[in-house]
Amino acid sequence: MDPSLLSDASKRLENALQYVSLSEDVTERLKYPKASLQVSIPVRMDNGSLRVFQGYRVRYDDTRGPTKGGIRFHPHVNLDEVQSLAFWMTFKCAVVNLPFGGAKGGITVNPKELSRLELERLSRGYIDAIADFIGPDIDIPAPDVYTNPMIMGWMMDQYSIIRRQIIPAVITGKPISMGGSLGRETATAMGAFFTIEAMLPRFDRSPAETTIAIQGFGNAGGLLADLLARAGYRIVAVSDSQGGIYSSKGLNIPGIRQYKESSRSIQAAYCEGSVCSIVEHEIITNDDLLTLDVDILIPAALENQITSTNAPHVNARLVFEVANGPITSDADLILESKGIKVFPDILVNAGGVTVSYFEWVQNRNGLYWALEEVNQHLKHRIVEEAGAIWQTSQDLKVSLRTAAYIHALNRLGDAIQSRGTRDYYVNTVKRL
Ligand code: GLU
Repeated sequence: MDPSLLSDASKRLENALQYVSLSEDVTERLKYPKASLQVSIPVRMDNGSLRVFQGYRVRYDDTRGPTKGGIRFHPHVNLDEVQSLAFWMTFKCAVVNLPFGGAKGGITVNPKELSRLELERLSRGYIDAIADFIGPDIDIPAPDVYTNPMIMGWMMDQYSIIRRQIIPAVITGKPISMGGSLGRETATAMGAFFTIEAMLPRFDRSPAETTIAIQGFGNAGGLLADLLARAGYRIVAVSDSQGGIYSSKGLNIPGIRQYKESSRSIQAAYCEGSVCSIVEHEIITNDDLLTLDVDILIPAALENQITSTNAPHVNARLVFEVANGPITSDADLILESKGIKVFPDILVNAGGVTVSYFEWVQNRNGLYWALEEVNQHLKHRIVEEAGAIWQTSQDLKVSLRTAAYIHALNRLGDAIQSRGTRDYYVNTVKRL
């Protein structure tokens, strides 16, 4: 377990705190998660044996509303990571002005080693273990790394069995047939796409003259590559957990995605057979990808990919963080000193949770929106908040990350202060 992840995450908070006037109470409150739950989940495996998995759910801060955040299935999941991700969710929800606090959950497991039935038993077992910690007005989970609508469906079903009523609003990112929102699966990529489109004109570049490298070819990275390629950008490199490919002329993204879907292989970013024969390409590593000389670098895999070790070798002009926490706080400083502008995760990947919010609203209203309506609302919100963050960073001459934290902190600070602070208490005592 890496004990430094949450403290590294809170360094961003400290940077931003210099620019906002908040009471000590607020800053003290935001240093700690509200509640962290660790559970053991016994699962009967297909061969009859019993395995016990570790699961977590952390509710970081609920001042602005019920807490919100995904559930990740990954072998490296641990409490520190889940707490850090819950911290990020708190700021992300405030950045896009959702009436939610931040949370996160996870199970330490390699889901690729489980059969579908084992995965279902594990997902239902997790909900059995955390049912009293979640709820449509308490904490609302969603998908994250290696979880998907099918898993959200099992989880919603299990929660409904426990409560003896159908409660779709307890979880978002569900299958459409169970109350999922149109556009939720594509929302993270869409949100990132809208941010890039809104910001690029400020750098005087047209899509055709913009080269892009994307690390991660999953739900977010793969789809974003597709959206960007269709909009005329030149995607010169992509990778997945096995490695990557590069072509200075630009890759055939629809072909690579098609291949990945049909092969269902995690090595799908590699071109085999006919798929990529259209353009020549080189095999590269994930590390190579991060240091390519490109206009835009998009880390869309996991956290801690750009650290003080490789940051000096990053050659991109702009970085858009689609993964959560791909750049460490030390690396931030190095990139800043090199003049590289980083658009932070809590803005760039906020499309997912924004459409989760729309899903929750639809579930509670019982009235469902058309896809165009979902995407229109998403675009409006992302473009507006991105513009405000850009303006703050220009006005205060701070990085876009610090500007995003300032933006979120103003909203969080207001909410915390409205609930009563030490100043209020001190004044009340004086009056007595
Ligand atoms: N897991 C996504 C995130 O990190 C989505 C969370 C949600 O929809 O609640 O933003």
